[in-house]
Amino acid sequence: MLAIPGPSIMPDRVLNAMHRASPNIYEGELLDMTHSLYPDLKTLARTSGNAAIYIGNGHATWEVCLRNTLVEGDTVLVLITGRFAEGWGEAARALGIKTQILDFGMQAPVDPTKVEETLRADKDGKIRAVLTVQTDTASSVLNDVVAIRKAMDAADSEALLMVDGMASLGCDRFEMDAWGADIYMAGCQKGLMTPAGLAFVFFNDRATDARKRVSPGKYWDWVPRVEADYFYMLFSGTAPTHHLYGLREALNMLVHEEGVENVWARHDLFARAIWAAVEAWGEGGDMALNIATPAHRSRAVTTVATGSGEAKALREWTEREAGVTLGIGLGFGEQGSQLFNSYFRIGHMGHLNIPMVMGTLGSIDCGLKALGMAHGDGALDAASRVLRGRLAG
Ligand SMILES: *Cc1c(COP(=O)(O)O)cnc(C)c1O
Repeated sequence: MLAIPGPSIMPDRVLNAMHRASPNIYEGELLDMTHSLYPDLKTLARTSGNAAIYIGNGHATWEVCLRNTLVEGDTVLVLITGRFAEGWGEAARALGIKTQILDFGMQAPVDPTKVEETLRADKDGKIRAVLTVQTDTASSVLNDVVAIRKAMDAADSEALLMVDGMASLGCDRFEMDAWGADIYMAGCQKGLMTPAGLAFVFFNDRATDARKRVSPGKYWDWVPRVEADYFYMLFSGTAPTHHLYGLREALNMLVHEEGVENVWARHDLFARAIWAAVEAWGEGGDMALNIATPAHRSRAVTTVATGSGEAKALREWTEREAGVTLGIGLGFGEQGSQLFNSYFRIGHMGHLNIPMVMGTLGSIDCGLKALGMAHGDGALDAASRVLRGRLAG
């Protein structure tokens, strides 16, 4: 049981869909199948704007967003709530883009009033984009994208709002158009249950206008990818054929069978069960949810604090004895430090059902007992009480 926050568990259906001979990449079935992916991706992102698919991971997609809208010397405002927006800011600096940073630490969401103040102070409108992460996978904070948009509007900012949805697409509600995001990026290996290698960029007309003043480089350019005259242009070369078949099956499951609203509801339920269990453990020991306020918690990943160094021992126990791999404490001190070893993460994105959630929680519960770590009773009971909500409809 891989319970890390990405890559996530791949359903057999996705793997089986990929198990095939190489197709013709110039005509035939592959082309129709690929074109059918775009409307479904837009359904997931809740946008009627443009969608481009790249062969790449999240780091590649950060650059796609930056290269298609900004040039060296431009300034962006980076809203840090964990490790990931920080990484996006680093990618910007590597392209010669200046970064203005608002760092909210590892335990709090973006404060929109700070965003508004900063943008108001930017009298000449130097800030061309605001970079934020909906779910920061290190802290497991969930940022309020609507509030960030409102703050930008209140400051009359012309900046583009760019949102990283790597960890939240297909897990947490996100409505690109209604919420006013100009660019939204994500990948396939988390909520979309497909092996790492495909990345998505959604962008609206404001972003399309910004593209006109820049030269992103031939491969990175999103224009040919949305206006492709022939199939080969869609991927600036050979299509990632097998990944596309895997993604097709994942979208069948999420968009056509379960439905986006139900997928979000399932992740909400499982997240609440996990929070309830951690809170119960915390009643009799040092365990605690990293994000205190439920409204600020991600439904894709949960970061848990433990007693000093206990997280590492617990992770090792669950992996060795139960076959449950938990996530490391990313972003808390140096890797291997005592602080780092005092946090773990439960990934609950993508292909997940009640036995998987209860199995993960049960294994952690066993580990706490086996290792003699102080913890409260009733964690599994607390989780069951949340999960029965689903059975009752
Ligand atoms: C996983 C993740 C990334 C990085 O994705 P890679 O595919 O590892 O490059 C970026 N942002 C967020 C929020 C993520 O969860």
